Amino acid sequence: MSPPPSRPPDGAVICSAKGCRTDATLALLWNNPTLHTPQRRKVWLACDEHAGSLSDFLSRKGFLKDRVPVAEITDEMG
Ligand SMILES: [Zn+2]
Repeated sequence: MSPPPSRPPDGAVICSAKGCRTDATLALLWNNPTLHTPQRRKVWLACDEHAGSLSDFLSRKGFLKDRVPVAEITDEMG
């Protein structure tokens, strides 16, 4: 399964990994209960290369809530 060639209209979906400028394909939704209310979702964007390491990092901390394609995230998130 490969990501669709089309991009979200604003085009500003770059991977959140440090130093990475690749277009993100996946959005990691997470919440740090010591900083955020339970309903709050922070979003990290990840390219194919960094999706695994970023989601591993968040799930080790118990912060990871969901993983969705970047096309499904909205401006209210983040
Ligand atoms: Zn990346």
